[in-house]
Amino acid sequence: MATLEIRDLHVDVASSDSDAESIHILKGVDLTISSGETHAIMGPNGSGKSTLSYAIAGHPKYEVTQGSITLDGEDVLAMTVDERARAGLFLAMQYPVEVPGVSMSNFLRTAATAVRGEAPKLRHWVKEVKESLSELEIDPSFIERSVNEGFSGGEKKRHEILQLGMLKPKIAILDETDSGLDVDALRVVSAGVNSYRERENGGVLLITHYTRILRYIKPDFVHVFVAGKVVESGGPELADALEENGYEKFTSAPAQA
Ligand code: ADP
Ligand code: MG
Ligand code: MG
Repeated sequence: MATLEIRDLHVDVASSDSDAESIHILKGVDLTISSGETHAIMGPNGSGKSTLSYAIAGHPKYEVTQGSITLDGEDVLAMTVDERARAGLFLAMQYPVEVPGVSMSNFLRTAATAVRGEAPKLRHWVKEVKESLSELEIDPSFIERSVNEGFSGGEKKRHEILQLGMLKPKIAILDETDSGLDVDALRVVSAGVNSYRERENGGVLLITHYTRILRYIKPDFVHVFVAGKVVESGGPELADALEENGYEKFTSAPAQA
């Protein structure tokens, strides 16, 4: 049983113009995610959803100015990016990076070795990879290609879910895993996430702009995220209300300091 606790999290983003001041994006986020729970964060574009995922992952551009993140009481903010992965956190990014010259197969084995603390036995590993590939309906030749290089949007997302299945994190953060997927890819990717939930009893933070993926991955909790914070939390019915009425009710509220 693992618990990720986010308390009063404030995050600034360094502006790409080095003379400009950094921008205050997250304004007091509170969230608690435990094993076996799926939380959906839904919010309009630019509300800071990806900023939240980057801050949890430890991206250097995102500076935590206030608040805390702990995993089973351990201070996540004091951990390096690698340590966070070893502690059991996993981030599937909205825009996955390409790594030319590094094959998927090397990348996955290196990552699994780092996270598990020992190299997976080769024969086991080959079997594991094969099963995961077939579950995600990924062509076996995919594994010899460079990481994300020239992958279509759908292939990148399948690759992220492949990693999720092989790294078996305690808590997975999936940032707009549904964006750019056609219905078939969405079905396969969702099945991968659901099988991770069942097998590992993992906790999932599913960040999304649209309700579509929630038909395939059923959330236990839904949080509406606007202007850098959670403005309302509820059960799956909250997603239905958003599907019907959009975010307007939440965005037209007077801005808070
Ligand atoms: P969302 O994922 O909800 O669409 P983001 O977290 O990507 O929102 O962005 C929130 C706000 O922070 C936006 O106004 C965005 O322009 C700004 N922002 C995020 N990352 C950066 C960055 N690296 N440099 C400058 N501005 C950024
Ligand atoms: Mg966005
Ligand atoms: Mg985003």
